[in-house]
Amino acid sequence: MRFALLSAAAAEAGHLAVPAWVALAYLVSGVLFILALRGLSSPATSQAGNRYGMIGMTIAVATTLVTHEVASLPEIVGALAIGGGIGWFIARKIAMTDMPQLVAAFHSLVGLAAVLVGLAAYLNPEAFGITGADGLIEPQSRIEMGLGIAIGAITFSGSVIAFLKLAGKMSGSPILLPGRHVLNLGTLVAILGLVGYFTQDQSGWVIATITILSFLIGFLLIIPIGGADMPVVVSMLNSYSGWAAAAMGFTLHNTAMIITGALVGSSGAILSYIMCKAMNRGFLSVIAGGFGADAGGASGGPAKEQRPWKRGSAEDAAYMMKQAESVIIIPGYGMAVSQAQHALREMADTLKKEGVSVKYAIHPVAGRMPGHMNVLLAEANVPYDEVFELEDINSEFAQADVAFIIGANDVVNPAAKTDKSSPIYGMPVFDVDKAKTIFFVKRSMGGVGYAGVDNDVFYMDQTMMLLADAKKMVEDIVKALAH
Ligand code: NDP
Repeated sequence: MRFALLSAAAAEAGHLAVPAWVALAYLVSGVLFILALRGLSSPATSQAGNRYGMIGMTIAVATTLVTHEVASLPEIVGALAIGGGIGWFIARKIAMTDMPQLVAAFHSLVGLAAVLVGLAAYLNPEAFGITGADGLIEPQSRIEMGLGIAIGAITFSGSVIAFLKLAGKMSGSPILLPGRHVLNLGTLVAILGLVGYFTQDQSGWVIATITILSFLIGFLLIIPIGGADMPVVVSMLNSYSGWAAAAMGFTLHNTAMIITGALVGSSGAILSYIMCKAMNRGFLSVIAGGFGADAGGASGGPAKEQRPWKRGSAEDAAYMMKQAESVIIIPGYGMAVSQAQHALREMADTLKKEGVSVKYAIHPVAGRMPGHMNVLLAEANVPYDEVFELEDINSEFAQADVAFIIGANDVVNPAAKTDKSSPIYGMPVFDVDKAKTIFFVKRSMGGVGYAGVDNDVFYMDQTMMLLADAKKMVEDIVKALAH
């Protein structure tokens, strides 16, 4: 069977220059991808960013199809239709709260595709134009292939674990194997050694062992990473999937794939760095894992303490906020679960009409994926100039009359500042405890945040717990404000 094949560049296996128009088309798509990333850096320009990305990808795919001697166009069109159809169906069906695990699942597919392309190239190197005069695979192609398969396999198994943790199908707590650092380091060194050896010996057992060890290390690297560090894992796997694609671009001699993969890889790496800074963690300590091991179970475990607390009502909240001069809203994952963003904007609009200053405070790891809250607030047409990042608004809580926490928990937990044994210790959090009054919207006293720890804010003198589904509670507050 012939795979899809023989790029203009690979045609001479060493190597015809790529026709000028092809190089230009790939360059244009590369520029469009950069504009897409630029656009996606702000909610105001994100739609334009998406459009640039779609146009860039259309140009890249069309150019590749036109310039390749394709084994069977109907097969490719059929595969595109099936894959596109599944993607379209999932995109329409998926709940916003399931997006993080969907993203992890998609990363796993990129990794798997890289492994399959690498193995296909190994099995049929002539079709990929990577054989030398001696009929063997060229040494540099073996390195590209070995690395591509290794990164792809790590991305695949790591993303599967991330998917299971994010979907709640596996405990979010770190799983710590004895001697894991030695085991991980040894496995990584073995993989790199085998990739080097592969240049001397292209036997099947070498590539098979690289593949198996890489699947294993992806699994081993992600299981010890605990609850609150998952945001870094998500962005890190995003980065890996880019490097896997770039490595396959070398195997396929496809410039567009190399550019795109490198862009995804480097932007994911930058995002991981930003997330580490947001959590006040060292990148290496996140990779080594283990945070939260003593937390008594992430996601969904019961709150540990039974202390007195005050329950408030929608009417209490409406009354107090109407009297306030300034209200800061802190949204979190629970707002996404209940889809309360539209009702929340209505509440804010009503308060603004009463002369209250309303601001939204967004923590970099609020929700379950980077930018989660920004996307939801943008969907509800919350003006961008009312949305502030942690470092820009944290000093304002001391002057705020009301901190209105809706579905957030870990990002307002003072244990991050005071309790060294806490799995979130060291993560910067909002200083909500400095506000005069705190309203805390959640469904029950038992439910905890992602990191699985109790929150002192529940029990503070100035806190009123508003226990209900977030959307229902905000709608009731809006009704109470109207009266
Ligand atoms: P948390 O997960 O800490 O807390 C969510 C809160 O929402 C809980 O208190 C829960 O309590 C409440 N809640 C859930 N459903 C509803 C509902 N329908 N109505 C009202 N309340 C509800 O959220 P945060 O946003 O504060 O923190 C994010 C956490 O997720 C951090 O630990 C972060 O590290 C982690 N994370 C973030 C990722 C990212 O990229 N942003 C990725 C992976 C993990 P109750 O059940 O009682 O209602």
